[in-house]
Amino acid sequence: MSLYSLLQEHQVLPMKIKEKMLYEAYEIAVNNLQNHPLFHEKKCFLHYSFLVHDQEIISWSTNNRIIPEKRWGYEKLRRWDDSYIPGTHAELALITRFWHEFKYEFKKFGIINIRLNRHKQRRLSAPCMMCSRWLRALKCSTIIFTTDNGWAEVVYE
Ligand SMILES: [Zn+2]
Repeated sequence: MSLYSLLQEHQVLPMKIKEKMLYEAYEIAVNNLQNHPLFHEKKCFLHYSFLVHDQEIISWSTNNRIIPEKRWGYEKLRRWDDSYIPGTHAELALITRFWHEFKYEFKKFGIINIRLNRHKQRRLSAPCMMCSRWLRALKCSTIIFTTDNGWAEVVYE
């Protein structure tokens, strides 16, 4: 199956981020799938988060096993599970880079979230409550995320 037909299937067309960006992001995710830090952990989700500004991918990150500092609030996501150890979500990895490298330089930016299974198929990658909160605080205007074999978009303005 070609990349084009793969992306067209069940696709919700994005309003704010050009379609070209989705292909680019998807291609980066697929090409880096085997290098994803959690690729060899059988039960882990493979997430990618891309920062888009002026229809250009500026930066991207993946989720990883690094435990985020408490101030980010992620341990609150699963209060009912005492043994829950939060990892770093792809969006958080991107946000922290955003803070350190870009110093709030972008007034408006978009996010493309991609989750792939190990067969390179798209899976749901809607941002969690905490990631949404931080992205909105940083003035993210739109998030496009993969659904099962499709795309969906959240617009924040
Ligand atoms: Zn999250």
